Amino acid sequence: MPPVQLNAVISQRIDVAPGLMVLHIVPDKGVPGFEPGQFAVVGLPAGAPRTPMSDPEDPPADPEKLIRRAYSLASPSLPGHHLELFVTLVRSGELTPRLFALQPGSRIWVGPKITGLFTLADVPPDQNLVMVATGTGLAPYMSMLRTRLEAGEKRKVAVLVGARHSWDIGYQSELRMMQRLAPNFAFLPIVSRPDGEPTPWGGAKGHVQSLWTGGALEQAWGEKPGPENTHVFLCGSPAMIEDMTKLLQGEGFTVHEKGNKGNVHVEKYW
Ligand SMILES: Cc1cc2nc3c(=O)[nH]c(=O)nc-3n(C[C@H](O)[C@H](O)[C@H](O)COP(=O)(O)OP(=O)(O)OC[C@H]3O[C@@H](n4cnc5c(N)ncnc54)[C@H](O)[C@@H]3O)c2cc1C
Repeated sequence: MPPVQLNAVISQRIDVAPGLMVLHIVPDKGVPGFEPGQFAVVGLPAGAPRTPMSDPEDPPADPEKLIRRAYSLASPSLPGHHLELFVTLVRSGELTPRLFALQPGSRIWVGPKITGLFTLADVPPDQNLVMVATGTGLAPYMSMLRTRLEAGEKRKVAVLVGARHSWDIGYQSELRMMQRLAPNFAFLPIVSRPDGEPTPWGGAKGHVQSLWTGGALEQAWGEKPGPENTHVFLCGSPAMIEDMTKLLQGEGFTVHEKGNKGNVHVEKYW
């Protein structure tokens, strides 16, 4: 088989923290249309270099073989944009060590279609939105908010995000700015290992689930979110998704699946 042609270029790389970055990609044929919340598939050949921050790997049997993975898009679905990914380094992983070796101007492969069901398509416009993420699970919400958040909207919108350290919470300044400008929007970050940070973390401490159980959202909204008026989105680690799904089901929420409309929408990263 002939080697796969790399069909896109890295236009920018923003290092958020060690092992955490935002990557901008411009496909040669332009950005395909997509719904906020959907994911692209990107790839690099096995022969591409790995960042020195990653674990060493044996030389690949076939250096031309394309390693592909799914990434939620953080960019708005509006004309004139690049594709934006928010990526964490898995040191022992196959693709992310190669992504972290890229620089502006590097070439990459992007799959022709952007797909996925983790979108706002099945949420009625009068329903409140709670977006819960761990780590890079913020990415699809950034696309949804950048494309659809309206300051004058009546419905309430909240982002609940958990990370180990405060520096691992991406898009903080943008989310804080949204909160200042849109009275219907709440940003609730939580950190699980805040000890020893150079600027002491003054925010919530623990796992993102406890923002739900501890009433932080209720306090921010002035009302308890319930299945009658709220859709909840869960994105990121399987452990958080499992815990949150159980909690929500206990309160009468139902999982949204193909052929079964519900008010809990789920995107598991692994
Ligand atoms: C629909 C979808 C959207 C995704 N969007 C994103 C995204 O926006 N950003 C992102 O960083 N990843 C995202 N992922 C995960 C991504 O596809 C890869 O699995 C991840 O980047 C690891 O790839 P790898 O080849 O380096 O590791 P692999 O060799 O494939 O190793 C996989 C292992 O890495 C760990 N892992 C995978 N993803 C993460 C993660 N995000 N954080 C911590 N540990 C992880 C798990 O233990 C998993 O078993 C998404 C996955 C899916 C299915």
